[in-house]
Amino acid sequence: MLRIITNPNLILRKKSQPVADLNSPEIQQLIPAMLETMLKADGVGLAAPQIGQNIKLVTIQFEGETYIMINPRIIRKSFFKDWGEEGCLSVPGVAGKVNRPRAIKVNFINEKGENQILAASKMLARIIQHELDHLDGVLFIDKAKQLKSTLTNG
Ligand SMILES: [Zn+2]
Repeated sequence: MLRIITNPNLILRKKSQPVADLNSPEIQQLIPAMLETMLKADGVGLAAPQIGQNIKLVTIQFEGETYIMINPRIIRKSFFKDWGEEGCLSVPGVAGKVNRPRAIKVNFINEKGENQILAASKMLARIIQHELDHLDGVLFIDKAKQLKSTLTNG
């Protein structure tokens, strides 16, 4: 399992660079390591900066599906937004409500090197936007209102 970097580490605030070569040994080792780390940490998503790599790579697990997004880019956002509660493995013990577009389309390269366009809404759209924010050095606490401690939940 990789070590998860927590706020206020400045790695979380840097802009990530595109993945140049998906087939490099480093990336091919990093993808399964990030998936394992996300699953063990019981997270729904993990962005590479959270494990100390400022590259555009994100893993997500949602409703039994696993998504590996390389060089992801949001290409469409709905006009309508929703407030929803978020937390982050890099900001332990804190939750807050964030206003985000309800639906998005995201373009990315998957782990096989295939160009993908995914339409997502509601919770999946929220997770994707949260993870892609990490690639821009943005944390949910920058956007959240009603921040609260979750430490009493263990
Ligand atoms: Zn996060």
